[in-house]
Amino acid sequence: MSSHYAVIGSGPMGLMAAIALLDSGHQVDIYERDDRIGGMSASFDFDGLQIERYYHFICKTDQPLFDLLARLKLSDRLHWTDTRMGYFYNGTLYPWGNPAALLRFPHLSVVDKIRYAAHVMYTKGISDWRQLDRANATQWIRRWVGARAYEVLWRNAFHLKFFEYADNLSASWIGTRIKRIALSRRNLMHESLGYLEGGSATLLQAMTANITERGGRILLSSGIDEVVSVDGKVAGVRSGGTFKPYDGVLSTAPLPYVPTMVPGLPAEFADAIRAIHNIPVACVILKLTQPISPNFWMNISDPDIAIPGVIEYSNLNPGQHSGDSILYAPFYMPKTHPKWSLSNDALIAEVIGYLSRLNPGFQPEWVVASHCHRYEFAQTICPPGFQDTLPPMRTPVEGFFMADTAYYYPEDRSISESLAVGTRLAETALSA
Ligand SMILES: Cc1cc2nc3c(=O)[nH]c(=O)nc-3n(C[C@H](O)[C@H](O)[C@H](O)COP(=O)(O)OP(=O)(O)OC[C@H]3O[C@@H](n4cnc5c(N)ncnc54)[C@H](O)[C@@H]3O)c2cc1C
Repeated sequence: MSSHYAVIGSGPMGLMAAIALLDSGHQVDIYERDDRIGGMSASFDFDGLQIERYYHFICKTDQPLFDLLARLKLSDRLHWTDTRMGYFYNGTLYPWGNPAALLRFPHLSVVDKIRYAAHVMYTKGISDWRQLDRANATQWIRRWVGARAYEVLWRNAFHLKFFEYADNLSASWIGTRIKRIALSRRNLMHESLGYLEGGSATLLQAMTANITERGGRILLSSGIDEVVSVDGKVAGVRSGGTFKPYDGVLSTAPLPYVPTMVPGLPAEFADAIRAIHNIPVACVILKLTQPISPNFWMNISDPDIAIPGVIEYSNLNPGQHSGDSILYAPFYMPKTHPKWSLSNDALIAEVIGYLSRLNPGFQPEWVVASHCHRYEFAQTICPPGFQDTLPPMRTPVEGFFMADTAYYYPEDRSISESLAVGTRLAETALSA
């Protein structure tokens, strides 16, 4: 029997959940608070260029994405680039990301380098992450690579991305990130990362077409104010002051919104959701007349630079930008950080101020356009033992199911993981 579902959120997870519900013969309405689809993967008009608000690369391990691309006949829009990585350490830019670069890096001893390489090799081979779920990432890495290599290679990255959470992260969560990048190679010497021709919008538009052609509806600028339940069972949703009845509701909105949005949840369950923390991002994007470096990814550990890295997207996807260079610089920070209250213009100026340190030839005239986007719940914080703290997708309110990027755990944040979790969320709803 066909049921009528509401899906909250039109990021890749919400769109995928809707596709799975339609596959099973149900009706779906997707509610999106933003004026466009995509969530963190959404694009915007950047000085005449359609590009994602936040950078996106694809790894060789992103199987759920490859499956969907094949289904939507988009596999030929996926391209791979031999990307370069750099490490800007205390004022000097070093090549990074292959054995030769590691051997030449002057700030570690031979023993440090062997231990670092052994850790990556070991992590690449892990398939059961449960043993590391309860381990502390800092201690795990320091045990493998030693105190000196941790200081040189990891400390700054952890502290500039996770701040007060930096020393209380799950080792399995950090380990899957190391594995994902380590496996995305053409060979030992070459990292190979992917991008979609036209960016993530290519995928999102094809998902939208698949949904709407089968009668699904996507309602933009239509945030859900309340998931209404009666006697512990979903009755429908309230959006913009209007009630609409549904048989079931699947939320893919960031979890911190859920307790307020679903007042029928028992207090204990709502508290379990509130115990999960996220870190926001303010991400500066610059259009430059010239690249800062040949690298796609530049990690930074420098006393005068307060960002963990810059991403030169045009060095991954050179075709989309008509000769311009596109650079992203993310500031991850808790909302309690004084910098969060700075204006976007101040953050843009800070990033531009760093560029002459990263490339002494940089001139301010290189900057053609700039923008800064913020996403409040950009990254779930996963401390040791996170698996056991994650509430079930099937909630105590009958007919209400929820997931967000926390449910990738232990995997890292990616569009591909959102597709996998969106499918799981729909399966959970259908099997209830
Ligand atoms: C800086 C940055 C870099 C990234 N880099 C990469 C990368 O290189 N590769 C990669 O694969 N992934 C990357 N990602 C991650 C990727 O963008 C996300 O994993 C993915 O977009 C998450 O999609 P989602 O649908 O799960 O969630 P979201 O994108 O969070 O979507 C949730 C949606 O719910 C909507 N919503 C919230 N509340 C309501 C409400 N009350 N009513 C209706 N709608 C609501 C929101 O507006 C949003 O559209 C990056 C993300 C960031 C921030």
